[in-house]
Amino acid sequence: MTGTRVLVLNSGSSSVKYQLIDMRDGERLAAGLVERIGERTSRLKHTLVAAGDTREQEGPIADHEAALKAVASELGRDGLGLDSPELAVIGHRVVHGGEFFSEPTLIDESVLTEIERLIPVAPLHNPANLTGIRTAQALRPDLPQVAVFDTAFHTTMPQSAARYAIDPKIADRYRIRRYGFHGTSHAYVSRETARLLGRAPEDVNVIVLHLGNGASASAVRGGRCVDTSMGLTPLEGLVMGTRSGDMDPAVIFHLMRVGGMSADEIDTLLNKRSGLFGLCGDNDMREIRRRVDEGDEQAALAFDIYIHRLKKYIGAYYAVLGRVDAVAFTAGVGENAAPVREAAVAGLEGLGLAVDAGLNAVRSGEARLISPAGARVAVAVVPTDEEMEIATQSYALVNESENPRLT
Ligand code: ADP
Repeated sequence: MTGTRVLVLNSGSSSVKYQLIDMRDGERLAAGLVERIGERTSRLKHTLVAAGDTREQEGPIADHEAALKAVASELGRDGLGLDSPELAVIGHRVVHGGEFFSEPTLIDESVLTEIERLIPVAPLHNPANLTGIRTAQALRPDLPQVAVFDTAFHTTMPQSAARYAIDPKIADRYRIRRYGFHGTSHAYVSRETARLLGRAPEDVNVIVLHLGNGASASAVRGGRCVDTSMGLTPLEGLVMGTRSGDMDPAVIFHLMRVGGMSADEIDTLLNKRSGLFGLCGDNDMREIRRRVDEGDEQAALAFDIYIHRLKKYIGAYYAVLGRVDAVAFTAGVGENAAPVREAAVAGLEGLGLAVDAGLNAVRSGEARLISPAGARVAVAVVPTDEEMEIATQSYALVNESENPRLT
């Protein structure tokens, strides 16, 4: 392999995000996003990072194939095209890898078949991921392509955490278990937290709180995930932007029997019209905080419900881990919303958890501690970087497969 660049592709249901990274120094060469694929108002935003030069175009982009071709053409205009010999590998984010994929995986037909077999448990995500891979393969058939799974980091969960308390025959027949998501972020952030503490990941127990529009918590013991809040799908766990998170499953029967709602209607209700949005009509934490500060009671209650759930998970994972060295906040809300961090650990001094108001108020893109000096448990803000993690894992895999270790 001569190239040192990795193209990271994150193909969502109606969008494609991408970054081109040079692994010699981790420099981001280009980054961009195609949004509203399949609509008349699709938009492509492409940035040549070093020059700070951004180009935008609007107009219909019919499907993922057209989107990737448009991305390839933008990269080509900057001399960074997919035909470049510098390109070593394309790394794809794949949301659901089931119990099968615990590592980044070189993509071949059998891997594609397995990702396809998982569509029933990831109906929104895996089809888009597959299209992204197939299109990239068509554009560069000779180039290695690697799948990095959102579920992979969680495959180390013990059965006691991964299994639901239902008949195992039924669970196995329908592949029902807790898989967990956001794994690439949890892996990256738990490792970076250890680095921030100046310790080896193997020696550190961390509770990671990934709070974006989707949100999940994980308990990481010595670098391995032992529990996480999302389950069969990304609906379980924390209160999210538009998802309810944990609920008595009987609410669903009740809505069917008493409310006359269909399974699809309830699916939409719980995934798209619940969480912060369902509670107060907003899912952006900035807007919710603005309303809280103005005395809006509905927004204040939504915030309190969000924080109460978060606190319950901190307590639960404290008990799961037994010893906690750090609690790390990450993603859009976790990295930016100081009031969320403050409220989530308020009253937990008995567990050794506290936030220093001055440190918590500092705005920075760097990983940093926000707990008072000498605190028993470190509280940290650690910006996540899923693209860099996908690039690192993909590049390491192709290097390893071309230069297998002799031992
Ligand atoms: P996802 O990748 O799940 O779409 P992100 O991790 O980008 O989400 O997080 C997006 C969310 O982060 C927004 O919906 C908003 O609630 C929150 N957010 C972003 N910036 C801020 C900020 N400055 N203050 C508070 N919340 C913020």
